[in-house]
Amino acid sequence: MEKIVRKMPASFILPRRINQLSRLTYNLWYSWNPEAQQLFANIDKDLWEKVYHNPVVFLRKVDRPRLNAVTNNPYYLSQYDRVIKAFDDYMNSQDTIWNKDYPNDKDRQIAYFSFEYGLHEAFPIYAGGLGVLSGDHLKEASDMGMPLAAIGFLYTNGYFAQHITEDGWQDARGVTVNLNDLPIIPLVDEHDRPVMIKVEMPGRTVHARLWEIRVGRVPLYLLDTNIEENNPYDRQLTERLYTSDLELRICQEIMLGVGGVRALRALGYKPDAWHMNEGHSAFLVLERIRDMMADGLNFEEAGNQVRATSVFTTHTPVPAGNDEFPLWLMDKYFSTMWADLKLDHDAFIDLARVTQSWGGEAFSMPALALRFSEYRNGVSELHGEVSRKMWAFLWPGRRVEDVPITYITNDVHTGTWLARRMRVLFDRYLGEDWVNRVDDLTMWQQIDNIPDDELWAVRQHLKRKLVAYTIERARQQWMNGSVHPVQVVASGALLDPYVLTIGFARRFATYKRAGLIMRDFDRLLHLLNRPNMPVQIIFAGKSHPSDEPGKLLIQEVYRAVKNARNGGRMVFLEDYDMNIARYLVQGVDVWMNTPRRPMEASGTSGQKAALNGVLNFSVLDGWWREGYNGHNGWAIGDDLDYENRDQQDEADAESLYDTLENEIVPLYYNNRSGDNLPGEWIARIKESIRTLAPQFSMRRMVKEYASSLYVPAIEKASLQMPEETESILVPGK
Ligand SMILES: *Cc1c(COP(=O)(O)O)cnc(C)c1O
Repeated sequence: MEKIVRKMPASFILPRRINQLSRLTYNLWYSWNPEAQQLFANIDKDLWEKVYHNPVVFLRKVDRPRLNAVTNNPYYLSQYDRVIKAFDDYMNSQDTIWNKDYPNDKDRQIAYFSFEYGLHEAFPIYAGGLGVLSGDHLKEASDMGMPLAAIGFLYTNGYFAQHITEDGWQDARGVTVNLNDLPIIPLVDEHDRPVMIKVEMPGRTVHARLWEIRVGRVPLYLLDTNIEENNPYDRQLTERLYTSDLELRICQEIMLGVGGVRALRALGYKPDAWHMNEGHSAFLVLERIRDMMADGLNFEEAGNQVRATSVFTTHTPVPAGNDEFPLWLMDKYFSTMWADLKLDHDAFIDLARVTQSWGGEAFSMPALALRFSEYRNGVSELHGEVSRKMWAFLWPGRRVEDVPITYITNDVHTGTWLARRMRVLFDRYLGEDWVNRVDDLTMWQQIDNIPDDELWAVRQHLKRKLVAYTIERARQQWMNGSVHPVQVVASGALLDPYVLTIGFARRFATYKRAGLIMRDFDRLLHLLNRPNMPVQIIFAGKSHPSDEPGKLLIQEVYRAVKNARNGGRMVFLEDYDMNIARYLVQGVDVWMNTPRRPMEASGTSGQKAALNGVLNFSVLDGWWREGYNGHNGWAIGDDLDYENRDQQDEADAESLYDTLENEIVPLYYNNRSGDNLPGEWIARIKESIRTLAPQFSMRRMVKEYASSLYVPAIEKASLQMPEETESILVPGK
């Protein structure tokens, strides 16, 4: 093993008293610690906003006099000392949950693979929910001291920025990130040469260099093929997320799976358990088998060993959403692989052969992952059920309920999504160490200690912050001169911080039914403008650039938003990302979600909202089906699946209007106390936080991954040869 060096980028020129700021900059720890973010914001608030909360760019641009000024401010310096100490304590602590729960597994290694990571808005290597889940998972693994290392791509073109034209069409604008602006650390060898890995592809070898990003204690290694050793085609492999070009996509997934295994090896890792988060990285099982066969195992033995130590999480509730490749592409890219695995063409394709709806055949990434993982899960109870049904054909002869796919419901990382002011409240009333007990139901009983007026004051503050932010964005657009006046209204110029506010923000795919609330438009208009009890709705979300029906849906919503009859009470916020998500899930009163059951595998944005005292109003799908208890929010529709879509839409819309008109809006406005507090609403907020915050905390989720998937896999890894588990290597066997 050659020596690996983390080549820290040239540091910033800072006053000596505060020169540890540069250390904070190169660790994403700041992204879930508001006090650390304040250390930057308190130097120059406007610049902090302008650089989109990116400390690397901030420290490069900030004026020297401002830096000097804070070194004379005792308040700033005490905060600085406190944060640096907290950071060092965090990084050095051995007293971790992992070490306590698994003292014998301190030196084990867990490898985690994902196509995208949503860590922070200034680091656009994510598209949506899957990425945010992976990012939150790494942060929690760090908090728990779990020995996990992650693999992903350094997308230089990130995901697109969204602009909406006057007629409501989504204009996808490419973004290019400058590598110097990111908190990434190049890995080099002792001769200062970049650490590289290579992967053979037909007629060429593709190289990737490795970068590291520190997520607290957890390293995330990013592969980057945009280097001169590669031809122009291969240089774009790690450029863009979710390309629709299938050949580019298979090259990407080979790089992620095969290249990722080689990257870990090059860095000296010998993982005991391997987690594939969604099927994009499933080729890693083939590379691991090839490795073991080179060491003398036969295919069956190697396959068993790989399976015993692999974990696969599926996130997709519909067959069409799954990643699969046409056989001609498999033939083109894998003919050397099947020879290495001592399989013939058909036996190789049989590892993951599926029949498509139109009768053709394809190679399915989730099928490959399912075959070679002993630990398989969906991401909510209902999604587990749907997954067992969907993949039952891989276990012929079994009853659907015996298909070995379990579920672990998705959750969110508390530190990342909790508003600072809310955290201050929790610090004061939940006891010193509440952060260490976020998944403890008993601890959350103390939510009743928070006086109603204080809780309500924070809720009001967060809504004003959201409204001020929205209006400021509208002002900027207006001043840029790039929009029509009606778009200024559509962007939220007429929002009112004292009106009951509903948030609806998510990917615009048709099954999310953004238009459901507009099914009876006159009824909606009446609701928005009722005397003494108005309502406003904020929409946000992107469509995948090649999802035409999704883009048409944005257009439909935007038309309604522009309609003067709504009085400016319907708003579309452009360019949904983690920053806007934070404003919304912290600032609105009600979080609405209207997926067509059972298409929302889990969903997590409503969990972020609940944590901040926002009430959920959603279809009983994904996580909400498990979270809703009758008193902690509201349900839309019943716990039922419909055969007929139109009937389902009609029934759900009726239920939605009814509940809004007769329950939600009156509860918010009526029965106010003398000091104008909505007592029953606040009681519901407390019930919501008390029941949902612990159950849907990333702490609970990652603990469950550890106890039911990772640790059993680790234990299998330490056996020389795993006992014969039921073999599904050969389909039908
Ligand atoms: C949390 C989050 C998501 C996932 O939310 P859903 O509930 O699955 O719609 C998507 N995008 C961003 C930016 C998020 O923060």
